[in-house]
Amino acid sequence: MSATGRGPMAALAVILLCAAPVAAQSTNPLHGTIDELTAAINDQVVDWRRDIHANPELGMQEFRTAGIVAEHLESLGIDVQTGVGGTGVVGVLKGGLPGPVVALRADMDGLPVTELADVPFASRVTTQWQGREVGVMHACGHDNHVAILMGVAAILSEMRDDLPGTVKFLFQPAEEGPGGAEPMIADGAMENPKVDAVFGLHVFPSPVGMISYREGGMLASSDGLRIVVRGIQTHGAMPWGGVDPIVTSAQIINGLQTVVSRQVDLTDSPAIVTIGQIEGGNRGNIIPDTVLMIGTIRTLNPDTRTLVHERVRRMAESIAAANGAEADVTISLGYPVTVNDPALTRQMVPSLQRIVGDGAVSQPPATGAEDFSYFAQEAPGLFIGLGVGADDPTLVHPNHSPYFYADERALPIGVRALASLAVDYLTGRPISED
Ligand SMILES: [Zn+2]
Ligand SMILES: [Zn+2]
Repeated sequence: MSATGRGPMAALAVILLCAAPVAAQSTNPLHGTIDELTAAINDQVVDWRRDIHANPELGMQEFRTAGIVAEHLESLGIDVQTGVGGTGVVGVLKGGLPGPVVALRADMDGLPVTELADVPFASRVTTQWQGREVGVMHACGHDNHVAILMGVAAILSEMRDDLPGTVKFLFQPAEEGPGGAEPMIADGAMENPKVDAVFGLHVFPSPVGMISYREGGMLASSDGLRIVVRGIQTHGAMPWGGVDPIVTSAQIINGLQTVVSRQVDLTDSPAIVTIGQIEGGNRGNIIPDTVLMIGTIRTLNPDTRTLVHERVRRMAESIAAANGAEADVTISLGYPVTVNDPALTRQMVPSLQRIVGDGAVSQPPATGAEDFSYFAQEAPGLFIGLGVGADDPTLVHPNHSPYFYADERALPIGVRALASLAVDYLTGRPISED
């Protein structure tokens, strides 16, 4: 998830009732192949993950990681395009039979965090970031995403003769910012061949054996809010001689609370409007001429997003006008809502249940943001959460923590999940109806 939106998903401590497979039996012979090949390649996936973890790179600097990915895909005989949307890598695997096109996405970037996790492959990498020397760490677990998708590529390339359709591998840069999905799409990553469905996963510190999903809005949109309230400066003892932007700002902040509580249908979709920074004035006896307020807007439904933007603007501008002041409202668009296509989600849930049984759980939305959302605007998408939380609670930390720890028992679950989503989508039969 992006740095602008680490979320309560991290705090998701849902109790796993059972991680054993449900009664549904697979009759798809390719499932057996996926499972066998996953077991055979698991040591390699772990090695990739540790190597990438020890050598993290910040967004748009993923040269080493992208090089490893590209070399691996080429070794499998997959068509590879590098430098897509910056440092992105696209692989195209054509199956031996005609069929649709499915894309699988992994993000490759680390974060400016100094690792404190006690693992032998902990990152010791430092780099310059915003003029400072900082540690770099895969504190959001994207190392797992890359290793898992490399494993999936190996498995599906072994199975290519039996695949009805094409699998596209999207290794994207800079999910944590400034965003790699949008430039990859601009470079044609979702075209030639055109993608019919896209899947992605993200690791979270929920228990190993848990896969989370949600129909519809799963992760929030994350938009920046900036309001400049302009009044007229005057003496603090003679407020009638000017227009007070401080009092106006106070009214605006209170008014903004009612955008969500009074104007959004909260039974349909939640929203958040937060002012996190306010600046104005420099001493007690001067009413200043401007006040700056900076905040964030999160929504979980594209329509709600549009509505909240309109209402925030109207509220701030109207309150300012009522006070004889002016409010300049700037909303800078961040990542859109990550929307899981409802029909695709329902179609694919059995694939997840085959792997983790009751561990596949529908969960509430989270207020973090993800630029997988852009891929899911181009084709029906499904984004899932993969539990990597260790059994030892002292090892469980939220994404972006310097102590973030991924239990590697989750890696083969992730490999089987993504490989199965791809194969089941292509074959159109997740699981037996019997
Ligand atoms: Zn993140
Ligand atoms: Zn992330």
